Amino acid sequence: MKIIFTLIIFLTSVFGLQVQELTWPKGDSFLTFLSKQNIPNKLYFDLAKEDKELCSEIDAGMKYELLLNDDGTLKQVLIPVSEEMQLHVYEDKKGEYKFEAIPIALQTIDETIAIEIKRSPFQDIVDATKNVNLANEVMRIYGKSINFRHIQKGDFVALKYTQKIRMGKYFGSPDVIAALVEVNGRKNFRLKNIHNDKYYDEKGKGYSKIYFFKVPVRYTRISSPFTPRRWHPVLKRYRAHLGTDFAAPRGRKIHAAAAGRIIFRGRKGGYGNVIIIDHHNGYRTLYAHQSRFRKGQHVGTNVRKGQVIGYVGTTGVSTGPHLHFGLYKNGRAINPMKVLKRGRELVLSGKKKATFIANTKEYVKELKDIVSNVDRNLPTKLTRKESFSTLKNN
Ligand SMILES: [Zn+2]
Repeated sequence: MKIIFTLIIFLTSVFGLQVQELTWPKGDSFLTFLSKQNIPNKLYFDLAKEDKELCSEIDAGMKYELLLNDDGTLKQVLIPVSEEMQLHVYEDKKGEYKFEAIPIALQTIDETIAIEIKRSPFQDIVDATKNVNLANEVMRIYGKSINFRHIQKGDFVALKYTQKIRMGKYFGSPDVIAALVEVNGRKNFRLKNIHNDKYYDEKGKGYSKIYFFKVPVRYTRISSPFTPRRWHPVLKRYRAHLGTDFAAPRGRKIHAAAAGRIIFRGRKGGYGNVIIIDHHNGYRTLYAHQSRFRKGQHVGTNVRKGQVIGYVGTTGVSTGPHLHFGLYKNGRAINPMKVLKRGRELVLSGKKKATFIANTKEYVKELKDIVSNVDRNLPTKLTRKESFSTLKNN
C-alpha cells in the first residue's frame, strides 16, 4: 500500500499527473468501468469467485481515485468497497492490466470535544466538526430518550469518538465511545459497552433500541462468515467476504430482515439475482443468489419485516444454493451476525454491570472535566490524536 501511494505522489509530482477523485455513476458496474477505460473484460472474467463478489459491492455515489496516463489511458484506480477493502486496477510494467483487492490505508483520529449549544446539538456538532455522520450517530444513540427541545443556550454536548480518514476525508461511520448531552444543566451520559456495542448511561441503564433485524432465512448452517479482510498466505493475496452465507435448500423463502423499501431488484454481477432493501435509518440489506423473486413486488415496493421477497438459489458466482446476506450501515458493509445476534440486555446487572462501570468510568470523568474546563468565551474545545493504521498481513 505504501508503494501505491508513494507511486501516486511520485507520478503526480514528476509528471504532473493528476489524481482525480470521482463519484461512481449510478447504474455503472465494474464491467462498464472496464469498457469505458478500454480495458478487456477478461480482467473481470478471470477473477476468483470472491473477487467477482467484491466487484458487485461497488455502489453508486462512492468516491474513488483515478490516475490516467498522458494519453488518457488508465494508470491506476482505487475503488473502496467496504470499511477496510478497496479494489486496485493498475497497469504493470509490461502495459498489462492487473487487479488486486487490498486493504485501505486509513488514518484514525481519536477526538474528545465539548461544544456549547447555540442552536441545536445536531447543528452545533456539524459546525464544530464538519462531520454530519457524527451528528447523525449522536442523534441515533439518544433517539427519543431525551427531549432535545428542552436544551437551553449554555448547555453542553461532549463527545469522545474515533473517525477513520481516507485520503484526507472522513470515511465510514464514526465510532462514538462516550457522549454527554446536558439538558437544562442535567448530564445525560451514553457510553458504549464494548461487549455488545450498545449504549448505557453511567449506571448501566440501557437505551439502545432492541432487536431490529431478523434472520432472513431458515438455514441449515452458515457456509461462509463475514470476513472484513484476510491475508491468504498460500495465494499471497487479500480476500474478503462482505456478508454472511446461509446455506439453505433451493426454493426456500427469503424474508425481509426488517421493514423497508425495495431499492434494487435485478442482476448484479457475481451476486446473481439480488434485492436491496433500504431501511430508512442508514441501514440497507442485500439478498443475493436468489433463484427467483416473489411475484408482485418491484423497485419502490414497501415491505414489512418478515415478508417474503424471494427464494433461495445459486445464481451468479455460487457453488450451491445459499443466501448471501449483506448488511450496510451508511453504505459500508458490516458484520450482519453482530447485529442479528444482539441480545436484549436492556439493563446491565451483576458482573456485567461492574465490568461496564469499571471500563467506562474514566470516560465519564474525562467528559465531565472537559465540559467544566471549557472557557465560556471560547466554548468549543477539542483534543485530537491521530494515528495511521499499520498494514499487517492478516
Ligand atoms: Zn457470500
